[in-house]
Amino acid sequence: MKYIDNTKCPICLKNKFQLLNRDRRLSTGEVNCRCGSCGEYVTNESTYYYLRNSRDSFTDLHILAGYLREINEFKNYQAPIKLTINDEVDGYYNINEIIERKRLSNDPFNHINKLLQFLRIKSIRKDEYIKLTTDDYPVAYARDKKEFYHFLDEAVGCKLVEGKLDYTKNSPRPEEFEYRLTLEGWEHLSELDIPNSNSNQIFVAMWLPEKNKDSIWYQKMKMGWENVYLKIEDDPDYPYTKCYRADLEEHNNYIMNEIEYNIKNSACLISDLTGHRNGVYFEAGLARGYGLPVIFTCQEECFNDTHFDVAQINIIKYTADEQGLKELYQNLKNRIKQTIF
Ligand SMILES: [Zn+2]
Repeated sequence: MKYIDNTKCPICLKNKFQLLNRDRRLSTGEVNCRCGSCGEYVTNESTYYYLRNSRDSFTDLHILAGYLREINEFKNYQAPIKLTINDEVDGYYNINEIIERKRLSNDPFNHINKLLQFLRIKSIRKDEYIKLTTDDYPVAYARDKKEFYHFLDEAVGCKLVEGKLDYTKNSPRPEEFEYRLTLEGWEHLSELDIPNSNSNQIFVAMWLPEKNKDSIWYQKMKMGWENVYLKIEDDPDYPYTKCYRADLEEHNNYIMNEIEYNIKNSACLISDLTGHRNGVYFEAGLARGYGLPVIFTCQEECFNDTHFDVAQINIIKYTADEQGLKELYQNLKNRIKQTIF
């Protein structure tokens, strides 16, 4: 039996690190980690040792650190994310896949935007300065503290944030510093056309003819909801996903506010055009307007009546029987992974 004894984060190598199951025999093979820079995560034992001993095989672990910190700060997770280097482990995310998917494009503004989003979520009061330390560099997906300082200085230069003091005058730089968003910073954030990728909610716009529960359509749509969307929620590949469906039968003001709020707070929207209800098209339009990715689906027998506005879009066709829903589930899983991960 092995005991794990090490005080450095295997991802960022910082010392502000704690193994939460340090004194326990690792019967489950899970290593629960808490890092001052990356936040909380879980690895399996082989991954933990691989990260520590084979660092040369990873070039961009700072992206993983950035992503972990981001989901720790933003997402309302019930449990920390599980990481592996092996291809297929149920309920675990592959490290190399995360690094490839979360890599920011070359524009330094992408890093500055991450920093601004972090400050926004921390700013309970709008006049408040947010304390940062050199160990917080993952909030900007920076490689190290030096690159972090650069992004902070550039954000100050663009008047998007302001420091409590002029930290550039100190040499060496202090370990702790305080910044807050300026009005321009808030404005910049609100104009950013970034889909809500920090959300773990999928908005499902679909017809469910509640008023006629004996109808064949009600049965078919209900089967779809239960065999596809509720299954996605339980899928270990998406351990924290929530599928939100508005009741489309009653579109009064209260429900409209609720719908708008929930679309705005979703990572993507799935629009099932079956039945061609106005509400379903309307919600897809709202989501597009908010910059959310929209995935369209439609049952085969309704497909030919699809509105011409969406005729050019790649719609996932399916049949509402056991085999058809299995295929839809698989198709949607792949599409969601490409769209939001
Ligand atoms: Zn770390």
